Amino acid sequence: MSYLERMRPTPGLRVLVTAGASGLGAAIAGAFCEAGAQVVICDLDQRALDLFAAAHPDVDVRCADVSDSADVDRLFAGLDGLDVLINNAGIAGPTGPIDTLQIDDIRRTLDVGVMGQFLTIRHAAPLLRASGAGAIINVSSVAGRLGYAMRTPYAAAKWGIVGLTASLAKEMGPDGIRVNAILPGPVRGPRMEGVIRDRAAAQGVTFEAMEAEYLSNISLRRMVGPEDVASLALFLCSAAGGNISGQAISVCGNVETL
Ligand code: NAD
Repeated sequence: MSYLERMRPTPGLRVLVTAGASGLGAAIAGAFCEAGAQVVICDLDQRALDLFAAAHPDVDVRCADVSDSADVDRLFAGLDGLDVLINNAGIAGPTGPIDTLQIDDIRRTLDVGVMGQFLTIRHAAPLLRASGAGAIINVSSVAGRLGYAMRTPYAAAKWGIVGLTASLAKEMGPDGIRVNAILPGPVRGPRMEGVIRDRAAAQGVTFEAMEAEYLSNISLRRMVGPEDVASLALFLCSAAGGNISGQAISVCGNVETL
């Protein structure tokens, strides 16, 4: 096999992407489709699922909230087998000093970000063992290696994912299952615009000033694109990535601080 062939996932790989109907999940799902994988996505937004399905008729789209165990039970009840689980779902959560945050908002951030990954992995584990070449990619964030003032629930969820990933890599490695986390930096797009808007409001500065502050903390002085994150996911599922496990890999232009 040539070096270039080693960098492509095997065609026919069975891949599940959570929160795959839009944003990073849609980019990751689209990249795996292009690589010839059999892709299933879930999302809680039926409208977004319909739009995604119209653009990708080969993808199996299913409505599920990853934080709801009954939804996740139903999602996996319809799966025959699985080679790759991509736990992408996560929400930004509330912004503000910790003593002003609502308990329900904190709980929801942890439920979607961390519990959602436990719920899917519990179901995926036997399928990935049966696969013989199973892999899990958990989407964390650079907030999962740097502290993030005013976004404590999000940062706690993303650090939790890194701990889950490191532990599972040890637990599942002997079964041939690789487990890695991807830590995106700020990604160009509507979600990041919302994050910057909320943070600007919390600190009483303009959107433009807050955006400039974000960029000044990134060594390359630019945000990443969804395609950067999707490319790493593909690489991790190729033969070239076959001996990478237990890692928390940033795709972020080197975010120095948050
Ligand atoms: P997004 O906010 O654009 O949402 C993508 C999709 O997630 C939407 O279709 C939404 O319906 C779905 N979703 C939300 N909650 C869900 C749930 N409980 N169950 C199923 N689907 C759900 O998200 P994004 O910006 O694409 O981020 C994807 C992942 O990447 C998240 O884990 C996020 O924390 C992480 N991340 C994003 C950025 C960024 O700048 N966008 C940076 C670092 C990490």
